Amino acid sequence: MGCLRLNSDEKRSCPLSKVFEPPNQLLQLMSIDRHLRDDDPTFPKLLEEIKSFDSGYAGEQSLHYYLGTVLEPHFQALQGIRLLLDHKHAFQMDHILIFSKFILIVEVKNLTGIVTIDHELGLMYQEKSDGSTKTYQDPIAQVHKQAYHFRSWLHERGYTGMPVENLVTFVNRNVVLKRESGVELDPRITTGYKIGDLINQLINQYKDCYHLKNTHQLLREIKRSHTPLEVNHMDKLNLTPRNLVPGVNCPDCHKVMLNYRSGKWHCSKCGLVSRDAHISALKDYFLIFGPEITNKKLKYWLRLDSADVAYQIIKKLNLRSSGKNRYRKYRLNYSIDSDFSYLMKHRPYKR
Ligand SMILES: [Zn+2]
Repeated sequence: MGCLRLNSDEKRSCPLSKVFEPPNQLLQLMSIDRHLRDDDPTFPKLLEEIKSFDSGYAGEQSLHYYLGTVLEPHFQALQGIRLLLDHKHAFQMDHILIFSKFILIVEVKNLTGIVTIDHELGLMYQEKSDGSTKTYQDPIAQVHKQAYHFRSWLHERGYTGMPVENLVTFVNRNVVLKRESGVELDPRITTGYKIGDLINQLINQYKDCYHLKNTHQLLREIKRSHTPLEVNHMDKLNLTPRNLVPGVNCPDCHKVMLNYRSGKWHCSKCGLVSRDAHISALKDYFLIFGPEITNKKLKYWLRLDSADVAYQIIKKLNLRSSGKNRYRKYRLNYSIDSDFSYLMKHRPYKR
């Protein structure tokens, strides 16, 4: 989850990737890609999943670009928030923007081709350039539901009198928006180019209203209540650890594994020498298999010849551990928000 306070200077100096972090499901898929052979029968399916999540992520990034024209620059932005209502029913919002006088939920669509929306039936049809078609839920119906749930969530926690607005924005330049005959497109549907104007209209509309109270407390509460959807893509793709190639990827050559000699990692393709390339491999492990690792598993995953070398490496990592001797388990501890930028360096396809 990425969260930040935007101000006008930061908006211009922050690299986009720092602002909206890739979702953890995309990170997990990218880790699997680093260890799955391109000729594996599952590879096309993996690629499809990566493309779908990466397209959503690209949409998030471009939204940030379009928000540069908003008149009230000191708003709070939260991305990819999933909350539970009554502690059981989950609902997810692409973006929650907290302005001084209202809250805005933005649903980002990164679809291409001809997109026709039928508000009466609650459906949206996408016709791609290759002639294929896909049907989705009407995004207005989608944000309506999100806003309704979010209002209930606020109410449950005693936040009253906070207006919740919603917008849908199509951020891809290669999209043509159409309406189903006779029914006007809902005015809350917009393209990236116009979203700044629409937000400015809302700012204007609320200008005589009171400032929202407790927004910092609300922000903290939303972040604390965020419940990311845990999806195990290994299971979803029907993969077992045996399908994966263990090893330490060369940071410069995609899918080339390094060799460990006299305390350093060596790439036979580009000649790179590194002391700490194994950290990325352990981060891959963390995303694919979870935080728990043993000496034996680390030896296997890093393709080391000796248990002693594995132990030396694990000792240097200073990990929390439990159990004794060969039953000792270590706990890898990485942050989804800041430790995985290496994964976005090599996409397995052209974006
Ligand atoms: Zn290399």
